[in-house]
Amino acid sequence: DYCRGGYHPMRIGEILNNNRYHVVHKLGWGYFSTVWLCWDAIESRFVAVKVQKSAIDFQDSALDEIDIFKQLCDKYKSGAANPNDVDSCPIVALLDSFSFRGINGKHICLVFEVMGENLLSLIREYDYKGIPLDRVRVIMRHVLQGLDLMHRQCSIIHTDLKPENVIQKQPSSKIVQIMKSYKRPPKSGVPLTERKDLENLTKSQLKKLKRKLKASEGAPASTEPQEETTQQELSNEPQVAKESENQEYDLPAFNDKKDDEGVKIMDFGNSCWIDKQFTDDVQTRQYRAPEVILGAKYSTPIDIWSLACVAFELATGDFLFDPRESRGVPRDEDHLALIIELVGEDNFPVKSRCTGNAWHHFFDKNGRLRHIDRLKIFKMEPLLLEKYKFEPDDAKQFADFLSGMLIVNPHQRHTASKLLQHEFLNKASV
Ligand code: ATP
Ligand code: MG
Ligand code: MG
Repeated sequence: DYCRGGYHPMRIGEILNNNRYHVVHKLGWGYFSTVWLCWDAIESRFVAVKVQKSAIDFQDSALDEIDIFKQLCDKYKSGAANPNDVDSCPIVALLDSFSFRGINGKHICLVFEVMGENLLSLIREYDYKGIPLDRVRVIMRHVLQGLDLMHRQCSIIHTDLKPENVIQKQPSSKIVQIMKSYKRPPKSGVPLTERKDLENLTKSQLKKLKRKLKASEGAPASTEPQEETTQQELSNEPQVAKESENQEYDLPAFNDKKDDEGVKIMDFGNSCWIDKQFTDDVQTRQYRAPEVILGAKYSTPIDIWSLACVAFELATGDFLFDPRESRGVPRDEDHLALIIELVGEDNFPVKSRCTGNAWHHFFDKNGRLRHIDRLKIFKMEPLLLEKYKFEPDDAKQFADFLSGMLIVNPHQRHTASKLLQHEFLNKASV
């Protein structure tokens, strides 16, 4: 992946975007990018810089991600009591964006506030035995607030909601330590040269940039656009590093977040709009909604289905659905069987089975599974009581909370705003 079109081979100490971002430490990576803790010499703060792979498709998807973050951020600000209170926004804040050329091509970069570890790390921290229910409540409340902003206010579908894509606010003690002991680079006093970033692009400028990328799409995936992009046309006023009150370099400003449990939704790299979808191949297996498996139309309810899977996994440490391919049974059919076993035959009626463009692979025309004839129907509440040793009240409430998200018919599945009213969330002392 460290080849043309792939990741940039970043080095600690490298400086990006005209002396602005000093690379300090690697925070993480994914299929699309590597993510770096950087010192922002202009704002005198730490940031997380997501450096996208350089092939055209990756550049294009980074531009879509920027578009989506901007829309979410604008909407949040327009409705927030205090628009500058980034900390309370349920979506990770995009602070800036820019691009640079490295040996593997052109990389579009997204600059975020520094966050902590994702929820998969939290699940691991509890040794896959489930995290305390009070923490699940708070996490669910924050994620639902984020989904409400995305779905109801912005018509955006995340399409890849899973524990890895929900991130804790508080950086880990290791990262805090790195930030505390970081020696700020001495200020040169020399004005930073033109910033060729994308931060201040208007929608139409972003569109123009995308068109240019599209125009060069005929080229092999690993080549860059022939044409220099519009960046040069878009340079801002020269920037001067901000003189902070504190001139001492041994007192780094590290992000002092409120010490509460909260989490934010991140990674909008696969997201789309209700009326502008890019692919039918969405969602990570275990979190995939039935309408996606069946190849039917999908919309915001697919994120709600995923959220039920995430909630169960947080509370128990186990996947809710972990389908396998076995002895001639396709994995999709096993997945549908597991769903029927949980919701019950009657709650997955024939009408809902024989829909979409793939149903006939799994069901016959009467709605019977093609390769599986024995189902072990089970109910959530007894499962929570018996296998996971929940208290009776908790089991009842949590099972009820999940059941609204696990309605097979997407039109009847509960919305984020409805779920925010559920008594499960409002019982907690937090
Ligand atoms: P994927 O393969 O999941 O699509 P991706 O290449 O789109 O990955 P992200 O999921 O956005 O990349 O980020 C990769 C990892 O980097 C995250 O799982 C997380 O550990 C870390 N990371 C991303 N953003 C931040 C941030 N703002 N603060 C701290 N760590 C972050
Ligand atoms: Mg990710
Ligand atoms: Mg991604």
